[in-house]
Amino acid sequence: MSVIPTSLRSRFVILIGVVLTIVGLLGYEFVQWYGDRITNQLSIGYAERSALYEKSRIVNVLVREVTLAQKMASSPGLKDWLSDEENVRERDAVFSELEDYRSFFRSQSYFVTVAKSGHYYYNDKLGGHPIGVPRYSVDRDIQKDGWFFTLLESGEPQRLNVDTDRGVGVTNVWVNIVVRDAAGKAIAVTGTGIDLSEFIHDLISSDRPGITNAFIDLGGAIQAHPDMAIIDFASLRKEASQEEQSTIFSLIDSSADTARLREAMAALAAGHAEVKALNISVQRRPQFVGISYVPEIKWFVMTFVDQRQMAQEPNTPAVGLLLVGVFLGVLLIVALLVDFFVLRRLGGLAAAIGTIGEGRYDLAITESSPDEIGHLARTLRHMADRIGAHTDDLERQVRERTRDLVAANAQLKALAATDTLTGAWNRRRLEEAVINEMDRLTRYGHPASLLIIDIDLFKNVNDHFGHATGDHLLCDLVAVVQSTLRASDSLTRWGGEEFIVLCPNTTLSTMTTLAERLREKIAQTAFRTVGNITVSLGVAECLSGETWEQWFQRADAALYRAKACGRNQVQVATGASPRTGAIPSADFVHLTWSTTYECGHTGIDVQHRQLFGHANNLLAATLSGRPTAELAGLIDPLIRDVVQHFQDEEAVITAAGFPGAAQHAALHRELLNHAAELVDHFHAGGLNVGDLFQFLADDVIAHHLLGADREYFSYLVAEQGTEPSVTPTLA
Ligand code: GH3
Ligand code: MG
Ligand code: MG
Repeated sequence: MSVIPTSLRSRFVILIGVVLTIVGLLGYEFVQWYGDRITNQLSIGYAERSALYEKSRIVNVLVREVTLAQKMASSPGLKDWLSDEENVRERDAVFSELEDYRSFFRSQSYFVTVAKSGHYYYNDKLGGHPIGVPRYSVDRDIQKDGWFFTLLESGEPQRLNVDTDRGVGVTNVWVNIVVRDAAGKAIAVTGTGIDLSEFIHDLISSDRPGITNAFIDLGGAIQAHPDMAIIDFASLRKEASQEEQSTIFSLIDSSADTARLREAMAALAAGHAEVKALNISVQRRPQFVGISYVPEIKWFVMTFVDQRQMAQEPNTPAVGLLLVGVFLGVLLIVALLVDFFVLRRLGGLAAAIGTIGEGRYDLAITESSPDEIGHLARTLRHMADRIGAHTDDLERQVRERTRDLVAANAQLKALAATDTLTGAWNRRRLEEAVINEMDRLTRYGHPASLLIIDIDLFKNVNDHFGHATGDHLLCDLVAVVQSTLRASDSLTRWGGEEFIVLCPNTTLSTMTTLAERLREKIAQTAFRTVGNITVSLGVAECLSGETWEQWFQRADAALYRAKACGRNQVQVATGASPRTGAIPSADFVHLTWSTTYECGHTGIDVQHRQLFGHANNLLAATLSGRPTAELAGLIDPLIRDVVQHFQDEEAVITAAGFPGAAQHAALHRELLNHAAELVDHFHAGGLNVGDLFQFLADDVIAHHLLGADREYFSYLVAEQGTEPSVTPTLA
């Protein structure tokens, strides 16, 4: 699992936090560095000014005390008395004058040490000791008194010395002035003492933390310092006795700093500069030291500024808390601002985009500000509008295309089911309907019948008027037939000039009537260009258990018979009748002789006519259910006439030189054999009307009389130059 947060808000806050931290740290470092720089400059300046200031203060005080002491040392009365110490009168005058000086000294004290006697006179504001009486005598052998002898022997006019007085027990900055007689001989040391603690308090102590003032003598010995423990007491004496001194150099950490300090001190003492500032490390603390030299007392004033204390450490916990507070506050404010100015608005846009996913393009975007998000919102709205419009357009197009497609499909389906020339059904469509009808017959016993129409001598029409006219005729014929049919009947172009009418729920007799009506109507119609035409029709009702092929075959055979019997007529398919009463009545089935059947040979024509008569009689008798005996009376003469006719005909055609005479005679014998079989059947009681009709109409008349016989017609009537047009009618 990734630790990187996925929400924009969290990422933003973390990023801002990191940036703030980095900037904060860099800023802190910079402020530290810059602060240090400023502090250093200020500290150096402060150290210099402080040194100068302290110098001026001490100079003021010391100069006054030294001047006063010098004045006191130059007193003629003092010098006179010193030459005669025991002179009481002079002594009283001198001490009276000294008491006068005492009141002007800062510490209200004075001393006189006489060289010749070593007497040490001292008085201060406490008094308590007789004036003009020595307190003690300095002794060259006493180490503590060394200051006196050192000064006297140094030849210097004066010296400032910090020391604890051996006799009176006070630690002072002693102002020692050498008193000389007229010959310049040092005869005494006089002066005053400035209380060290008071001195330190007034001049040295600083109430500012990190600031330390100190007085250092030419040799580096510490003369005054807030830390009294490091003051080099009795420097004058130690110097002389080569004792180890407490110097400022011993406090300095590095020899390099020491050298720099010495150098600065030398320059100041030589008067090359009034003040110097150094950056040195004292007692392991980096310090700025300002130094000035007070020539009057040959001391340096040093002001030490503690760098660390100047660059005051902040109150870390408080500042830390403040920083953390500021940090969190900034984070919170940034988060709120980002939320307000970006995230909430982006959320609105995201929600709006979500509605696009649901297929809604009327975006509820109220964003209108001129910034980037506003621009994004406007672009989004524009895009959604365009997508919406585009989608509407697409949907409209799809609707239109679908409608077109449905129409095209319907058209295709119609095309697939119809004949392109005439618009009648095609074979496929018919066969579907046939399956349906045969199924209804099987299931419910509903009858179904069909008839085949074939235009007579259609080839002649094409030959005569051209193929286009033939096409027109086919179309016109379809229109004529359609106008006669019921809505439930269908007309199919079976092929060429052959059509099938399928009638559901229709028996053979009704179908035969319809066929006759069609035949008549067509025969009476004057077709474009062509005029009158005739058609032949074959009718068949579907028998139970029959296949479509068998049903069609029977209708086709009937049509063939119609053609064979002279065209322009209806022939009914033979075959076992599925129902009683479906057989045409006697007066319905009738063979009519036409003069056009005549071959021109009188004998044969007469015989043919007689055969028609016999056949019609027999059919009528059979169909009307006449008794068997009566029928037998009709069959026998028919057979007899047939036999006679065959014999005569064979003689005629043989005589006429017909080359197929022998073959024709064989056909005759076949027919006679078939006739003999039927007669046998009849006598056995097994002859039905269909078989009889088939033999007479199909075998004898249609196939033979009007078929095979026609082959020899030309031999008999060649001289007439005409072929008989034969159209036997079944009426
Ligand atoms: P029959 O009385 O024996 O039927 O004579 P028929 O000339 O009508 O018969 P046949 O079958 O010998 O000739 C049919 C002709 O129909 C042959 C063909 O040229 C013509 N035919 C078939 N289909 C079309 C068609 O779509 N248009 C045209 N114009 N003629 C066609
Ligand atoms: Mg045909
Ligand atoms: Mg035809």
